[in-house]
Amino acid sequence: MPLMRIVSDMPVEKSVVLVGAGNAHLVFVRRFAMRPWPGVAVTLVNESSVIPYSAMVPGHIAGSFSREEITIDLVRLCRAGNVRFLPEPVTGIDAVARRVRFASRPALAYDALSLGLGSLPACPAELGEAALFLRPMQAFLKRLDELEQALRRSPRPFRLIVVGGGASGCELTLALHQRFGKFPGFGVTLLQGGPHLLPEFPAGVARRFSEVFQQRGVSFRVDARVSGGADGALLLDSGERLKYDAVLWATQAAPPQVLRDSGLSLNAAGFLRVADSLQSVSDPAVFGTGDCVAFERYPDLPRNGVHAVRQGAVLFDNVGAFLREQSLRPFRPQRRCLCLLNTADGHAILRYGKIVCKGRWARKIKDRIDQRWMRKFHELAAMPEPNSDAPAHLMRCGGCGSKISSDVLSAVLKRIDIPDDPRVLLGCRAGEDASVHRVRPALFGPQPDKLVEVQTVDYFKAFIDDPYLFGRIAGLNSVSDLYAMNARPFTALAIATLPQARGPVQEAQLFELLSGAVSAFRELGVVLTGGHTTEGNELALGFAVTGFGEEDRLFRKSHLQPGDRLVLTKPLGSGALLAAWMRGDCKAEWFEPLLATMLVANARAGAIFARHGVTACTDITGFGLAGHLLEMLDASGVSARLEAGCVPLYAGFHEVVARGITSTLHADNAKVSCRVDGAAAAWLFDPQTSGGLLGAVRADAVAAVIAELHAAGYPQAADIGAIDALHGQSPGLLLC
Ligand SMILES: Cc1cc2nc3c(=O)[nH]c(=O)nc-3n(C[C@H](O)[C@H](O)[C@H](O)COP(=O)(O)OP(=O)(O)OC[C@H]3O[C@@H](n4cnc5c(N)ncnc54)[C@H](O)[C@@H]3O)c2cc1C
Repeated sequence: MPLMRIVSDMPVEKSVVLVGAGNAHLVFVRRFAMRPWPGVAVTLVNESSVIPYSAMVPGHIAGSFSREEITIDLVRLCRAGNVRFLPEPVTGIDAVARRVRFASRPALAYDALSLGLGSLPACPAELGEAALFLRPMQAFLKRLDELEQALRRSPRPFRLIVVGGGASGCELTLALHQRFGKFPGFGVTLLQGGPHLLPEFPAGVARRFSEVFQQRGVSFRVDARVSGGADGALLLDSGERLKYDAVLWATQAAPPQVLRDSGLSLNAAGFLRVADSLQSVSDPAVFGTGDCVAFERYPDLPRNGVHAVRQGAVLFDNVGAFLREQSLRPFRPQRRCLCLLNTADGHAILRYGKIVCKGRWARKIKDRIDQRWMRKFHELAAMPEPNSDAPAHLMRCGGCGSKISSDVLSAVLKRIDIPDDPRVLLGCRAGEDASVHRVRPALFGPQPDKLVEVQTVDYFKAFIDDPYLFGRIAGLNSVSDLYAMNARPFTALAIATLPQARGPVQEAQLFELLSGAVSAFRELGVVLTGGHTTEGNELALGFAVTGFGEEDRLFRKSHLQPGDRLVLTKPLGSGALLAAWMRGDCKAEWFEPLLATMLVANARAGAIFARHGVTACTDITGFGLAGHLLEMLDASGVSARLEAGCVPLYAGFHEVVARGITSTLHADNAKVSCRVDGAAAAWLFDPQTSGGLLGAVRADAVAAVIAELHAAGYPQAADIGAIDALHGQSPGLLLC
C-alpha cells in the first residue's frame, strides 16, 4: 500500500531522534507516517540521503538491478512520513545530556533516542587506498563504478581479494566476478580464515557455494587468515604474502565508533547492550536495533536484515509506550528464518532451518521478497493537493515563495502617503533592493562624504524542516539585498516566530535556528545585534540588516544600458523544487544540490561584479526572474532579450514542472506574462529563495566575469541575454 501521510498540528511536546537509516528505522518512519503521535516530533539522521538496500546489492553488482531499483531515497521517505531528515554523520552521543553530536552543526536534543547504525567490517587499518569497505554502501558502490571505468579505459591485470567467507563475502565475490570477469586480466580470490565457508550456516550451504565457485572458475581459499598487510600485499597467518590491487573487507561485524564514548553500556566487543524491549540496559531512553546491538538474552543472534526489519514494529510500539510511560513489549526473534543467498548466476541458495536447496525458483522468491520491500519505499503517496482538507497554511509555499505578490504590494505602496525626506537617498518609492540613507560623516572611513547607510528587511516562513539550515539560508537571503546593491552588511536584528511547543523543545528549535543564522553571518562579518521572538502557527525567521556602501558605487536597478549582457549567478527553479519537496516529491539527488546552492552567499558574486564595473544589479528572489528583471527594465527604460537555452536551472526542475508542481506564488508572478514576448517558460516566474544576483555586464567583460564566478563557487553562473533599446513603446522582455 502506498505510504499515506497524516499531519498533526499539535504543539510539540517530545522529540524522538533515530540515528542511522537501519532497517528498523525505515519501518518506524513508515509506521509513524500512518499513525503519527500527536505532539511528538521525529528526526531521522543518516550520513547519506540515499541508501542502497543491502540484500539487493549483490544483484545490482552482477547487473540484475539498476541503481534506482535498489535505492531508498530518505529525503522523499521522511517527507512523506512527516519526519525531519538530517543528512549528516553523527560524531558522538552524549547519553547524560541526551544529545546527539555532529561535527559541523549544533547538537540535537532528544527525549528518546534509537540507534540503528549498522556495523563496520573489522579491518587492519594499514591498507590505505587499496581497501574497499562495504560501509557506507553508497560509497562502496561508487568506488566499484570508478573501478569499472578505469578497467574499461585501460584493461590491465587486476587482482581483487575479498577477505571474509561469510554470506556477504561469498555473494559479493560471485557478483564481482560476474561484473568484472569480462575484463582481461581481472581476477578475484576469496579468503576465508576458518576451515569452511559460511561457518554460521549448515554445511550444505557452504558445499553449494563451493560448487558454484568451482563451476565458474572463481578461486577461494579456506584456512587463509589475514593478519595484516602493507605495500600491495596481504600477510597471512602462515607467513605467505599475497599481492593485490584492491582488497574488499567483508569480515565479521565491528561496532560503530560513535558508541565508544557515549557513556552507554557496551559489551566486550563494543556493541550496545540491549534488553528484550530494545532498550539500552543502562539508559531506558535509548533504544537500539539491528547490527549495532548485542541482546542480553540472545548473545548469538546472527546480525542480519531479517531480524532488524522485525525489530521495527517492536521499536515503534516501545518508543511510543516509553514516551507515554506505559509498559513495553519484548522482541522475540524467529527461531528459524528464511535465508536466500544470491549466487549471481540467476539462481539462489535457500536455507530454512535444516533445509538447503538451490535453484532458479529460489532466486525468483528472493527477488519477489526484496522487490516487495523496496516498493514500500518507492511507492510514496504524494502530499495532499492545496485544495484538499489539509490546513491551508500547511500547503502554501515557504521561503521567498511565501511573499505577497508584487501587484498587491505595489498597489498598497501607491496608496500610502510616505513623505519624502532629504536624509533618505533611496526609500520605498525607489523600488531598490535596500533603502539608502546618509550617515554622520565624522564616524566613518576615508571618504566620509560618500558613505551611506543601507538597510533592508526580509522575513519568511520555513520552507524546510531543518531549523539550522533554514536559519543559515534565511540569514544569507536577508543580506543578499545589500550585496545586490554593492553594499556591505554590518549588523542584523532578528525576528523569529516559533510554533507552540514545550519549553525545552522550543528552546532547542530557537537555538538551532539562530545558530544557523549566526554561522552564516560570522562568515560574512555580520553581527547579530538583537531581535524579537513571538509564537505563531509556523516557524518563520527574518532579519533587518544594516550595512554601508559608497553613494556613487551603489548598484542600481535603473542603470541598465543597451548592449549590456545579463549575467545570472545561480540557477533558477528553487520555487518549484521546494513545492515538490513539501509534497514529498523532490528526489534526494535534486534536493542536495538545491540546498548546497541556496547556502552560497552572494557576497563574492557582488564583489566580482563591482571589480568589473557593473553598475546595474538585483537579486532574484520571490518575484522570479521575470518580475525582478522587469523592475530593472522599467527603472532603466530599456528592453531585454533572454536566451532561454542559456538560463541555468536546478536539476529536477523540468521533471517537477512536468508533473504540474509549481510554487503557490508562481501564478501571481505569471501575471506579468503579458509583457513577455515568446513562449512563457515556467522558470521565468518561479520564485527563488536565496537566489543569485542578476548583473548587467559590459559585453567585453562577460567572459572574464563568468570565469571568475565559476572559480568563486558559482559553477552555474551564465550569460543569459542582453539589454536592448526599447522594443516598442514600453519596456518588455523577449524570450528567444
Ligand atoms: C552485501 C550484503 C548483502 C546482504 N544481504 C542480506 C540479505 O539478503 N538478508 C539479510 O537479512 N541481511 C543481509 N545482509 C545483512 C544486512 O545488510 C544487515 O544485517 C542489515 O543491513 C543490518 O541493518 P541495520 O538495521 O543494523 O543497519 P544498516 O542497514 O547497516 O544501516 C545503518 C545505517 O546507519 C548509517 N550510519 C552509520 N553510522 C552513522 C553515523 N555515524 N551517522 C549517521 N549515519 C550513520 C549508515 O549509513 C546506514 O545507512 C547483507 C549485508 C551485505 C553487506
